[in-house]
Amino acid sequence: MKILSEKKLLLSQRHFETILAGMYCGILELTPEARIVYCNPVAVSLLGMPEEKLLGSDFTELFQHNDNQGIRKLLDTSDHTPQTISGNSFATLNGKEFSMKILPVKSKGKEAIVVIFKDISLRKNIEARLIQAQKMEAIGTLAGGMAHDFNNLLMGMQGYVSLMLMDIKPTHPHYRRLKAIENQVESGTELTRQLLAFARGGKYEVKSTNINELIIKTSNMFGRTKKEMKIHRKYQKDIWTVEVDQGQIEQTLLNLYVNAWQAMPEGGDLNIKTENVTLDETYVKPFKIEPGNYVKLTISDTGVGMDERIKARIFEPFFTTKEMGRGTGLGLASVYGIIKNHSGFINVYSEKNKGTTFSVYLPAFEKTVIKKRELSAEVLKGSETILLVDDEDVIIEVSLEILNALGYQVLTARSGKEAIEIYKKNKDKIDMIILDMIMPDMGGGKVYDKIKEINPDIKVLLSSGYSIEGQASEILKRGCNGFIQKPFNVSELSQIIKKVLR
Ligand code: ADP
Ligand code: MG
Repeated sequence: MKILSEKKLLLSQRHFETILAGMYCGILELTPEARIVYCNPVAVSLLGMPEEKLLGSDFTELFQHNDNQGIRKLLDTSDHTPQTISGNSFATLNGKEFSMKILPVKSKGKEAIVVIFKDISLRKNIEARLIQAQKMEAIGTLAGGMAHDFNNLLMGMQGYVSLMLMDIKPTHPHYRRLKAIENQVESGTELTRQLLAFARGGKYEVKSTNINELIIKTSNMFGRTKKEMKIHRKYQKDIWTVEVDQGQIEQTLLNLYVNAWQAMPEGGDLNIKTENVTLDETYVKPFKIEPGNYVKLTISDTGVGMDERIKARIFEPFFTTKEMGRGTGLGLASVYGIIKNHSGFINVYSEKNKGTTFSVYLPAFEKTVIKKRELSAEVLKGSETILLVDDEDVIIEVSLEILNALGYQVLTARSGKEAIEIYKKNKDKIDMIILDMIMPDMGGGKVYDKIKEINPDIKVLLSSGYSIEGQASEILKRGCNGFIQKPFNVSELSQIIKKVLR
């Protein structure tokens, strides 16, 4: 009889041990003094200690680096209620975070404590990343909204300053002060530009750009401090316009210059060249891009060069051959992303000890660039009728004054719907439309399409603080005649109106 019950006990013990060993949680049994008397395999691996060492040791000492007082208190099971550590309070060990259940048990007059615990680091980590992503998105929305509104304020200021400058001679004492205000507005615009670029994250804010100008700006800045390196520049005359995010392309150029400079520790030559090129089907095929006109930038150095093995990996994020602190391996990865984002591509040619050549191709964009800040720019007058569409009162007011001062007849609309109605009624009178891109209800793109249906030949000038995700270039591709960036001054506006009306 006794033997039979012993056997039964043994079997049931094995049965429980199998279950405990197969659990996904760590399970420990402690004496009331917190000495470990049992641990299952998961507990061994979670706690990172061999079973021999765990058995007999003080459980609270494992957690002595954080809150072991707290744990000791939880283990005080005199009132026999189970305890849980989870949610925001948890125990940490070896960089892992644990949620725990502490169960007092009593069998045959013997007290014990069972601890069941789980590693929640991964879940915590994912939660933290999610919160971070949501936070960045919220900040982005806030920054984007602020920048957009602030930009409209700047447009109002720029407009009124422009109007005042029209009426006074450069010798007037206020002339200089008004110019100073214009400069301040310019700085403000730079701030909103950065805010918007941040808000958009990976997306970009495009502007019609003369790439030669970006190269002059960035290479002068870079060359000033790097005297051991000679910079040679060769520019294409009448370079085609590209539609780019200037900040991102500046970043791209600087990354390429820095790499070239680092590849020439003894000094050498940096050659920068721009060209207009037309690429046919066979050429573009391997790069999965459209055939057509491209602006090509070539940046080559006479540095250490690369072998095939390195060359194959240079665009990988975090690939670097440089010592700690000198390279992050993110330069070319970001260059690659930016160029790809601009529907272009990048090529590299290099041989060990024979220098390196990077070629960047950006799609050419046919529309004329309206240069920002054309100093001493002339103001061109006209007499045609213009329909001005914008949802912001201050923009309507200041633009109306400017257009009147330039001699134009002006009709105004404060929404897309109103614009279409007014256009329908006055389509024989209206020579061109100045159309805001971002408006509530109906945006510029939709208004453009509807008005084009009424009159396919209508001339439309798109105006916007910033283009969102290449939205402006989309509308321009559908045939819109021009684009002007707010804030603009009188001469800029007067010139682009002439170009569109021509
Ligand atoms: P980092 O400069 O931080 O190392 P990059 O992504 O800019 O990262 O470049 C990756 C690697 O490509 C460099 O570590 C280097 O080995 C190689 N490389 C890039 N540009 C050049 C160059 N002009 N000449 C030689 N090697 C280069
Ligand atoms: Mg680099």
